[in-house]
Amino acid sequence: MYDLAIIGGELYIDGSYVRKNLYIKDGKIASITDDILDSTDIYNAVGKKVLPGFIDPHVHFELNVGRYTSCDDFYWGSVSGAYGGITTFVDFLDPVDNAKELEDAFISRRKLAEKSVVDYGFHATVKNPVGEVDSIVKTMKKLGLPSVKLFTTYSDSGRRTYDNEIIEFLKLSRKNDFIVLAHIEDDELINLDKSFEVVDLAISRSSRAELNEALKLARYTRDHDGNLYMVHLSSGNTISALRDEYSDILNKNFFIESCPQYFSFGSDVFNKDNGYLYALAPPLRSEEEIGLLVDSFDYIDTIGTDHCPFMKDEKYGKRLVDMPMGIGGIEHSFSVMYSLFGDKVIDKMTVNPAKIHGLYPKKGVLLEGSDGDVVIYDCSRRYVIERNHSRCDYSVYDGYEVVGEVVSTISRGKFVVRDGEFVGGSGEYVRG
Ligand SMILES: [Zn+2]
Repeated sequence: MYDLAIIGGELYIDGSYVRKNLYIKDGKIASITDDILDSTDIYNAVGKKVLPGFIDPHVHFELNVGRYTSCDDFYWGSVSGAYGGITTFVDFLDPVDNAKELEDAFISRRKLAEKSVVDYGFHATVKNPVGEVDSIVKTMKKLGLPSVKLFTTYSDSGRRTYDNEIIEFLKLSRKNDFIVLAHIEDDELINLDKSFEVVDLAISRSSRAELNEALKLARYTRDHDGNLYMVHLSSGNTISALRDEYSDILNKNFFIESCPQYFSFGSDVFNKDNGYLYALAPPLRSEEEIGLLVDSFDYIDTIGTDHCPFMKDEKYGKRLVDMPMGIGGIEHSFSVMYSLFGDKVIDKMTVNPAKIHGLYPKKGVLLEGSDGDVVIYDCSRRYVIERNHSRCDYSVYDGYEVVGEVVSTISRGKFVVRDGEFVGGSGEYVRG
């Protein structure tokens, strides 16, 4: 007797669809078959796509940025994600510059995340860890953390990691089986003029700053045979240049993540009256850059949201130096990307992030033995986004028309969202 049967749907397996029945027992996918077997609960998925649960490898729930804290805590962020089919997300530990603090950061963030309704993990994060790279890597091993994030910018707030330490991490990454996540912008090319407002964002953080630094880090990755993952690539010029000069390492040991917002909105929105609502770093780019990004879609490994929303009044009327940067998007990431790219987006939100971030084959695939994380997707639906379960008082996707809707989200065999209704959930820590 199985716990749950998903009957008659189109199952996404190895890049194509097969019509089969999927059975879950004790939280795991137990059988994928044409047969009809006994099951306690039966879900009719005829006419729907049955997809592996989505993985968001880049979120910031209850992130404190000084005066402000991103407004989705682990509960509301994960509820919002569950409505969008996210069954696993990876958040970030607070940035540390030594190994001892890394352990504390891990303990405190794990505690905060216990209220999550879907599964979760963390990336370690460092800030200028001079003389500590070795011991941080040892502590990552001990804690079972397979990734560390660093920033090549934000020297103004002490978060920048400099080239020596970046190279040390890259040298250790292969041998120690971890990946270096990097926020890549050339700090010297960023202009933090105190008078800048949101209309100046594209000047403040130019795509040239991203491109220059990305080429440098690609060179370091190649020279030192490291593993690197570039978070939130925003610029079409950057990926075009990487394709031209680093095709030997691209998608092999230099991985690219981009975000739905960089495909969905151009920098012209910063000129609108409500342009401040879109403020984020790196910023949105020109239409020409979006075209280049779309042309290079096949070279993007993963889609993460960088979900980090702040309330309207926290952003309103501020100059860039005082404004919290970041927007929400975890709830609509799949529908938005599916509307633009169809089935091509599925691997970038399932099997690819699972493999790169140490979650495969537990997550990211419909495979016997894998966790029973499943999304039921109805492609016949076409609607305008107006529904949000984030705590944030706006979404940049309000009014955005999408094709297809997540109707049900199943985490380890249990419904978290069933036919559009949230029914509760209990997330587990899944890394290490
Ligand atoms: Zn981020």
